[in-house]
Amino acid sequence: DQAAAAAAWRGPGVTADGHPVAILANVADGVSARTASSAPVEGVGLFRTELAFLDRATEPTVEEQTALYREVIDAFAGQKVVIRTLDAGSDKPLRFVETEEEPNPAMGVRGNRTAVAHPEIRRGQLDALAAAAEGVASVPWVMAPMIATVDEAREFAEQVRSRGLVPGVMVEVPSAAVLADAILAEVDFVSIGTNDLTQYTMAADRMSPELASLTDPWQPAVLSLIGMVGAAGERAGKNVGVCGEAAADPLLACVLVGLGVRSLSSAPAASPAVGLKLSAVSMAQCRDAARAASTATSAIAAREAARAVIG
Ligand code: PEP
Ligand code: MG
Repeated sequence: DQAAAAAAWRGPGVTADGHPVAILANVADGVSARTASSAPVEGVGLFRTELAFLDRATEPTVEEQTALYREVIDAFAGQKVVIRTLDAGSDKPLRFVETEEEPNPAMGVRGNRTAVAHPEIRRGQLDALAAAAEGVASVPWVMAPMIATVDEAREFAEQVRSRGLVPGVMVEVPSAAVLADAILAEVDFVSIGTNDLTQYTMAADRMSPELASLTDPWQPAVLSLIGMVGAAGERAGKNVGVCGEAAADPLLACVLVGLGVRSLSSAPAASPAVGLKLSAVSMAQCRDAARAASTATSAIAAREAARAVIG
């Protein structure tokens, strides 16, 4: 059956007609990275570094951070590792910095925005990432969360490049999707965070169970934005990934590939079912499903339209 077939899938990710799609894992620390390394994944698509910072009374030193980042890099030695800089903010406050209460924290000083008031935190993190990358077989990719403007992307890319690392940004604010061509001119890759991109596109809190039908990545508006980013990636010849929960849904994963996404990162438990599904469909089917889903008039209709093409 389906579950047994998925359990037997060993990767790497590739469509039935031979187009590679990297199947990657989301991890949070060395322990989860070592666990993920036994799943059929080709690397890490999102290392959320928050764990190193939250619940700390004092800022972790560069040495402490270096050791932590190195654990994750070593768990996937020679493979792709995409590390996200700190995504803290007033809903995930840091104990070692003074933060103002904000009435609307999801739209407040979070993600890369915290680097304006506290540039030393991001500087220390990037120094630690550079130290952790010394001598490794595959240079880590480093991306910033909550990028909304081209200037933010350029400034971040300069900081990352000057340390010999590969710069990218997350696309999780609709403005970044709209500006994908200009942003891709500044960075080497982008990764779409579908959890926040859906929240901000639909103006619907991702934590609200009442709004679950709006915070559904099958919403055609979200798919259309992802398609804009995918097309920009193809024009630029640069990688567009997805690292939100959408990448864990096998049917949606095929739609994402049809929209131009070339790597899918999720909880590692989802990777076999996603890999198996992709191995059974052609790129032309993915494109047809993507076209049908993104021009549907509701999330439910989008899913049905994709299923009608792909099954
Ligand atoms: C996202 O927003 O989709 C994402 C991957 O980041 P997080 O879930 O950590 O906000
Ligand atoms: Mg996010």
